[in-house]
Amino acid sequence: MLSRLRRAGYDAYLVGGCVRDLLIGKIPKDFDVSTNAHPEQVQEVFRNCRLIGRRFRLAHIYFGREVIEVATFRAPHHQQGESLQHEDGRILRDNVYGTEEEDAWRRDFTVNALYYDVSDFSVRDHVGAMVDIESRTLRMIGEPNERYKEDPVRMLRAIRFAAKLDFTIEPATQAPIKDLGSMLKDIPSSRLFDELLKLFHGAAAVKTFHMLRENGLLRYLFPLTDDYLNQNADSSAEHLINASLANTDARIAEGKSVTPAFLFAAMLWGPLLAELNRKSYDVPQYQAIHAAADQLLATQLQYTSIPRRFSVMMREIWQLQSRFEVRWGKRPWRLLEHPRFRAAYDFLVLRANAGEVPLELATWWTDFQECEESEQKKMLKKSDAPKKRRRKKSTAAKKIIEA
Ligand code: ATP
Ligand code: MG
Repeated sequence: MLSRLRRAGYDAYLVGGCVRDLLIGKIPKDFDVSTNAHPEQVQEVFRNCRLIGRRFRLAHIYFGREVIEVATFRAPHHQQGESLQHEDGRILRDNVYGTEEEDAWRRDFTVNALYYDVSDFSVRDHVGAMVDIESRTLRMIGEPNERYKEDPVRMLRAIRFAAKLDFTIEPATQAPIKDLGSMLKDIPSSRLFDELLKLFHGAAAVKTFHMLRENGLLRYLFPLTDDYLNQNADSSAEHLINASLANTDARIAEGKSVTPAFLFAAMLWGPLLAELNRKSYDVPQYQAIHAAADQLLATQLQYTSIPRRFSVMMREIWQLQSRFEVRWGKRPWRLLEHPRFRAAYDFLVLRANAGEVPLELATWWTDFQECEESEQKKMLKKSDAPKKRRRKKSTAAKKIIEA
């Protein structure tokens, strides 16, 4: 595909994350191409091509299920043309085309600004990126303060790359983050949701989470979580977050699926318990959780959007927790058949590992779902006698609130 652009008379290079990843021995997750052909010209060369984006116009070329992103070289935004900058420095539109070298200088970090020429296997470095690759340094191109003001999301990107690549953030690149973090408040919640997924589903969630906290950025993604953690040091909810992020990293490493619903369920679990405690809701537990979740979401959604299917699943994971306490009669079997059983059970295991519920409860459910029906019957007999049912039920309801 690069050669096709070349045959049509254009320059074309692999660029950005994929070149960086190849150089440090990681497998790139996708390939980006940079060219001097304008998006419309790219479309003339490829039939399987769609132009996307207003803020940043791009060509997407489709090869079966793969998409290759082709961007035209950009010039600095202060030049004439179709660009737009907000008075606080933010770049709202960035469609001024330029040369390869200009394109390199307007990228974010040096290690993201390498160009690979597949025709002669040469790497083109305009910003001193090779030195930084060798010393594993994440360095902002240009004046960091200004570059963060142009696009505050670069602060989150700094944390993401440092954590994922295991690079050190160069001091001048790190320094402004503490002061400029609040600029993230002006970023659309949908963009922050997208960024949040990259931060937490990039196989380095544990490290990312700690770096976000240390750099004062967690509060612009999860304000309630940040408050909760600051007020409840070393809480079981904090252990639960760590356990759940470690679990997410492990699942991604094994190629298993992960869902944002689980991330939100874990991140907001502490705030949920606090909210239930604070209001001492005098209604059945199901309604109490529902009302508390409404409260939390009202705040969270001002920061990051959450597509409804994920917030619905997050609520289900929470609602099912108390049903694990019931280990008699027909209800355990019914719970096994619930479409969210698996996610809720995984969450229970994390709560047990975090010391919030007895490990024995989680093990019981691990055994119960794995054994034969005859064994299951024995397990139900062995557990709580029906006589205790009434008392047990109400403790189950209270337990989750007191946890
Ligand atoms: P990943 O492996 O996570 O995809 P990436 O480096 O490819 O990492 P992308 O978000 O896919 O990151 O962006 C592709 C390239 O576009 C980056 O390497 C960088 O050069 C440039 N870029 C992306 N976002 C910005 C930004 N906000 N400011 C400046 N340059 C950016
Ligand atoms: Mg990429």
